[in-house]
Amino acid sequence: MDIKQLLRDMGFRFNKQFGQNFLTDENLLNNICNDAQIEGGTVLEIGAGAGTLTRVLSKHADRVVAFEIDRNLEKVLNVTLADCPNVNVVMADVMRVNMVELEAMCGGEYRVVANIPYYLTSPLIMRFVEEAKAVTSLTLTIQKEVAERLAAKPATKDYGAITVAVQAVADVDITRILPRDLFYPAPNVDSAVVRIDFKRNKYDILNPVLFRKTVRVSFAMRRKTLVNNLAVGFAVSKQQAEQIISTCNLPVNCRGEELSVEQFVQLYKTIEQLQLK
Ligand code: SAM
Repeated sequence: MDIKQLLRDMGFRFNKQFGQNFLTDENLLNNICNDAQIEGGTVLEIGAGAGTLTRVLSKHADRVVAFEIDRNLEKVLNVTLADCPNVNVVMADVMRVNMVELEAMCGGEYRVVANIPYYLTSPLIMRFVEEAKAVTSLTLTIQKEVAERLAAKPATKDYGAITVAVQAVADVDITRILPRDLFYPAPNVDSAVVRIDFKRNKYDILNPVLFRKTVRVSFAMRRKTLVNNLAVGFAVSKQQAEQIISTCNLPVNCRGEELSVEQFVQLYKTIEQLQLK
């Protein structure tokens, strides 16, 4: 099927606001499905577009639930997915559906596989990290820069609060780089496919809200030391903040970005024991 021709024939106009950059190469779409390690089961796709990835997903999965916000794509999807009976297209803004409802539509464990619009990247990932219960992995085509942040190592410029929040509950792997000219139309940046495999019990984090606050506070002012950031963020004296840091066996002048994920977990546990909020 010539998707570009079909879109032209149907008079489809790309909507920049929705981040519409479609993938059409079938080999690449199959490779993305292989990266996602789909072996049957249910896949949730966010942003079906013209249905190119959706079609390939329907061959690898038992069932696909595909969201698409742009009503102008409905008639295109009716054509491209006509022979995919295991696909359920939902014409809606995925961000307006609450997580309980979304997971009920998937009916048990599911994987997310999606080429997501750039404007949604961080909020979408954080939603699945913070709220989802039954998701096993996210395989996302996203801006290369963001993928590098998610997979970053401590003490690098890419390492930040989102890195630690994600790596505390999942393993992150960049599986391939996609140059911008693979998309139709081509965006201004290159992309990468990243697989986020959830391991919710990787660390013993009983109070995720406090854990995330610890991380956020530690990165709040990157030029300041961890002591200073903790003192401001948790409203404690500098001496108390130094005490916390020495309990964790960290150097007194260290910065948040130097801590490994394990060290952040230890820091959060120390703060939790002190009943700071
Ligand atoms: N999956 C297709 C592909 O790979 O060619 C399309 C990918 S395109 C980058 C992102 C798609 O997400 C667009 O079709 C866009 O209309 C849709 N989209 C944007 N925001 C959305 C939202 N909040 N909920 C559901 N779909 C959305």
